[in-house]
Amino acid sequence: MDRVMKVAWMYHDIMDLYGDTGNMMVLKKRCEDRDIQFVLHTIGIGQEADLNDYNLIFLGGGADKEQMSIIPDLLSRKENIKEAMDNHTFVLLICGGYQLFGQYYEAADKTQIPGLGFYNYHTDTGKEGARCIGNVVVDAILDGFETKIIGFENHGGQTVNVDHPLGKVIKGYGNSFDAGYEGFYDGKILGTYLHGPLLPKNPDIADFVITKALQKNDPDFKFSDLKKLDDTWETRAREAILSKLDIQN
Ligand code: GLN
Repeated sequence: MDRVMKVAWMYHDIMDLYGDTGNMMVLKKRCEDRDIQFVLHTIGIGQEADLNDYNLIFLGGGADKEQMSIIPDLLSRKENIKEAMDNHTFVLLICGGYQLFGQYYEAADKTQIPGLGFYNYHTDTGKEGARCIGNVVVDAILDGFETKIIGFENHGGQTVNVDHPLGKVIKGYGNSFDAGYEGFYDGKILGTYLHGPLLPKNPDIADFVITKALQKNDPDFKFSDLKKLDDTWETRAREAILSKLDIQN
């Protein structure tokens, strides 16, 4: 094992909705099946850590109350997160975590939670408490690589002013009721509303995240350098979901 993938899982005990933990299980399995050493550190409120030490930062989704509870700690790490991102630590963000990397998140009770402000997007609450809920399928092109991303969304937040969406929605809502686009991807972060969890349903995205993360130590590392794994079951599960949703694969 000469390659190492070091992951910082932020607020693992607080920001974890609809199976987000499954994302870490998938990364571990897909790394270990390829003899890539997988090191997972959980980072809780107040815990000392240098995020620049990691290949990947992962932050899952959470209810409004949970987002409010972690935000002071998250903001206190702003400089360190920026330094890590500038040094090619890749960032995977789900729903509530994705919202907090923008300008602000307006909770259902209208409290405005400040975000890290790294990006122009911001998130307002849905009109009269309306929420985007259901299965989602997205057509994405990531660094030239085309794939359908499958997941499940449940959010009140309506994210607007998104400069680099992750993909085009073909089923469900995505960034907001009428956005037509889902998530955010700019080469440094992949933010998405998709729980479900994301990576077991989308092994290509799992491998894409592993590739981006490994590039921190080896900028020449390519997606095609990852050994192919047997994804028979994952493929069947995807086909079953797509056919249930009447979507051509
Ligand atoms: N509390 C946020 C919202 O409702 C995020 C929810 C989530 O992470 N699923 O928009």
